[in-house]
Amino acid sequence: MMTKIMAILVSCSIGTVACDSRPAAVAPPPPTAAPHMEPSTMPTTEPDKVTHTEEEWKKLLTPEQFAVLRQKATEAPFTGKYDEFFQPGAYACAACGQELFSSDTKFNSGCGWPAFYAAKAGDRVKLVPDYSFGTKRTEVLCARCGSHLGHIFDDAPQTPTGERYCINSAALKFIPAKK
Ligand code: FE
Repeated sequence: MMTKIMAILVSCSIGTVACDSRPAAVAPPPPTAAPHMEPSTMPTTEPDKVTHTEEEWKKLLTPEQFAVLRQKATEAPFTGKYDEFFQPGAYACAACGQELFSSDTKFNSGCGWPAFYAAKAGDRVKLVPDYSFGTKRTEVLCARCGSHLGHIFDDAPQTPTGERYCINSAALKFIPAKK
């Protein structure tokens, strides 16, 4: 009996392999067809990378934007235009234009820089360890163009995530919500 079952299983698996390796007899799906993905594994966005040489970025950005976005400078606290700014809309990367944050997640942390408790989608920012100035922090980069945005801290228990994206105003461009 067991031998019979094994024989059936083996023949089934051979049949499966044969089916998989058989040249497609029917027309393959159009190349634009999206592969089936479970919702949990589906990327929320697939940002196209934006790359420029530093010389090109220098021409594209203001000196302040270049210093922050490309040279990782930090603007002085309480000086940025979006620190205490709470209009409805979105905040895009000032270098490449990718929308990074929503005004819905902006809060007044009192730290002197714009603060958000979440990014618009996790794959729009890239988090990397930063050991500069003798401390360990987590740097926030734009996932699309690699520009420096600021840092993220887990010191905001008053927010739904407990996290504080501490972002330079100079790294952002505000896009007002449509009325
Ligand atoms: Fe960017």
